Amino acid sequence: MNDTVALVTGAARGIGLATASLLHAEGRRVVMLDRDADELATAAATLPGALSLTCDVSIPQHVAQSIAEVEHTYGRLDILVNNAGVADFGPLAETDFACWRRVMDTNLDGVFLMSQACLPLLSVRGGAIINIASISGLRASTLRVAYGTSKAAVIHLTKQQAAELGEVGIRANCVCPGPVETKLALAVHSPEIRAAYHDAIPLNRYGTEREIAEVICFLAGERASYVTGQVVASDGGFDATGVRLPALRV
Ligand code: NAD
Repeated sequence: MNDTVALVTGAARGIGLATASLLHAEGRRVVMLDRDADELATAAATLPGALSLTCDVSIPQHVAQSIAEVEHTYGRLDILVNNAGVADFGPLAETDFACWRRVMDTNLDGVFLMSQACLPLLSVRGGAIINIASISGLRASTLRVAYGTSKAAVIHLTKQQAAELGEVGIRANCVCPGPVETKLALAVHSPEIRAAYHDAIPLNRYGTEREIAEVICFLAGERASYVTGQVVASDGGFDATGVRLPALRV
């Protein structure tokens, strides 16, 4: 496993950093990519030997340059984790086109661009793509017209990738996290939303970054060698229970 190379986007903090740390602990060579250069430098300093690349995944030229650097440095790529994401919540009527585009640029275009750019490297040995969507892509709710739609598209994009890339040995799977206390969630989860999540989730709590990273690493690794095209919710049971009417609780 020691010469395998794993690239994680949005690796400067949150779920991406937890995933990069776990892949690093597994003995893989890790490429940390993020558009926030300062936070990325701080994060990369915690993982000896990691290659850090400042890159905006929604800009094709940035993506091309970064993947060229991976090829130059390692000559291979085994795992791509498309984790970089942004959240902007608001009612449909107040979501202007600029906001819609900002969310789609990173959450959807970024996954498409990164995956396509990595294909030549991934297909040499048959690699794994793990796309990070959200429970907001599995079920609709208020305020998430852009975010939820972008994440539903990522779920379908994963299935398209699995259908097409299986024959070159590349697996593609999707992880849908429930709420996790990261900077992204803190910005859009009001105290009311936080309390409601605790109440609605069967495990009655937010997940941790590490708990999401464990699922990502399982799908990335050999133990999942016959798993592709799947969508795994790591969400404390939120998706499984639907509305959870108070009157029907035990
Ligand atoms: P976070 O904000 O803590 O980290 C996201 C990282 O992505 C940041 O370092 C940011 O700089 C980087 N990033 C954003 N846009 C980028 C771009 N265009 N190019 C390169 N880097 C970019 O967020 P997080 O909570 O760790 O989220 C990680 C993923 O998990 C996202 O895709 C998010 O939608 C998803 N998710 C999070 C939650 C949650 O509750 N935290 C729930 C469901 C899904």
